[in-house]
Amino acid sequence: MKKKTLAIVGGGAVGLSSSIFAQDIAKDINIIVLEKMDRVGKKILATGNGRCNFTNMNASYKNYYGEQEGFSKYFLEQFSSKDAIDFFYKLGVLHLVLENGKVYPYSEQASSILDALRLKIDSCDNIEIKTEFDVKELKKNGNKFYIKSIDGKTVIADKVIFATGGLSSPKLGSDGKGIKILKALGHSCTKLIPSLVQLKTDPQKVKALKGIKITGNLKMYSGDKFLKEEFGEILFTEYGISGPCVFQLSTLFARYNNLIAKIDFMPNFSKKHIIKILKERKEILSYTNMENYFNGLLNKRLGNIIAKNSGIEKLSFNVKDLTKEHIEKMASQIKAYTLNIIDTNGFNNSQVTSGGLSTYEFNEKTLESKLVSGLYCAGEILDVVGDCGGYNLQWAWSSSYVATKSCIKSMQNNRKENI
Ligand SMILES: Cc1cc2nc3c(=O)[nH]c(=O)nc-3n(C[C@H](O)[C@H](O)[C@H](O)COP(=O)(O)OP(=O)(O)OC[C@H]3O[C@@H](n4cnc5c(N)ncnc54)[C@H](O)[C@@H]3O)c2cc1C
Repeated sequence: MKKKTLAIVGGGAVGLSSSIFAQDIAKDINIIVLEKMDRVGKKILATGNGRCNFTNMNASYKNYYGEQEGFSKYFLEQFSSKDAIDFFYKLGVLHLVLENGKVYPYSEQASSILDALRLKIDSCDNIEIKTEFDVKELKKNGNKFYIKSIDGKTVIADKVIFATGGLSSPKLGSDGKGIKILKALGHSCTKLIPSLVQLKTDPQKVKALKGIKITGNLKMYSGDKFLKEEFGEILFTEYGISGPCVFQLSTLFARYNNLIAKIDFMPNFSKKHIIKILKERKEILSYTNMENYFNGLLNKRLGNIIAKNSGIEKLSFNVKDLTKEHIEKMASQIKAYTLNIIDTNGFNNSQVTSGGLSTYEFNEKTLESKLVSGLYCAGEILDVVGDCGGYNLQWAWSSSYVATKSCIKSMQNNRKENI
């Protein structure tokens, strides 16, 4: 009997893991991975600053967002972070748990993850990788899928797992074309917004701070409503703010209007305590002017801006002349330096895409399309986005596992029916 063919579109985290899951369950099918770039898994090499934060020990559905709340839960239960660690262990990768449950390969090299996947794939006779196969169209005719590339090649398959990612970091391969291809088949897509990315703010409040790096607390609000906070490094740029806690909180931009950031430059001190310190400094530093008032307390340039924003126009202003009102205003600025978030820094700079193909149109236990039978989707192409810290790759592995298992099961059932 002629072997059945599973085509996997996209040779990223989902595509590569899916081919391994598939051959593990069924040795008697052809598995073809179609990748538009000249090599598979380019994005994996860029993950975790070259170290690949491939999962998180604390991964739970609460770390994921999309229109359908809790959609990720079932998939994480089927293939958890422990399963991901075990999967890579069996491919020769030992794991290392670092801060906040982030998991890396022990080598701290992203290439270890990609090499582990590639070595396994190379050892499997029934997996074929076709690179430079840039899919432009997917059609179903009868029980067969016809997958066409931009240069006129066609692959015919019995089932398809579609995993072309989102729109983030297009130079690494995922440019959103896959979403358009599935929209042509009737699927709908939620709003696509860059996530895990730097944030743009009103420029006049950050320009003068450009290049300053501080450790502080970043609180996000939607209007007056407090949303979430993160402690860590914050970098001021020409256009806004960057740094790990900015990336972490950037997912809020996709979900809330009127986003406001408040930076606490001295999170270990209450406002009352800061007022006390500022008053003491008025006495201690009575012999100098405002240019030196924040010396030893805050970054000098930041201190100057805080003074200016508190109504002190000239830095030649004498410290001894500070009023109660000046001190009150400066303490407020130190505890809550307020910035309006006007945009993100775009898909080119973002790590993941918030939004994607509507999960309502996919079976919540198999990831098979409800519109096109035999078509499965997994990974970032779907409307599921995770926090920063290994959660997005965990979603890739979990969704890949379930989609692949379900797809192979249905191929095997179809075969029995046809005998
Ligand atoms: C710089 C950076 C750092 C990151 N760091 C981390 C991290 O440390 N931890 C973490 O959890 N997540 C991280 N992420 C996010 C994570 O890499 C992604 O969420 C994950 O790779 C998504 O997997 P995927 O298989 O769905 O999509 P992708 O990995 O994007 O793979 C999609 C593949 O499909 C191919 N493709 C696209 N269109 C076509 C087409 N038309 N025809 C054929 N092939 C096509 C692409 O070339 C690509 O190879 C990072 C992302 C970036 C950009």
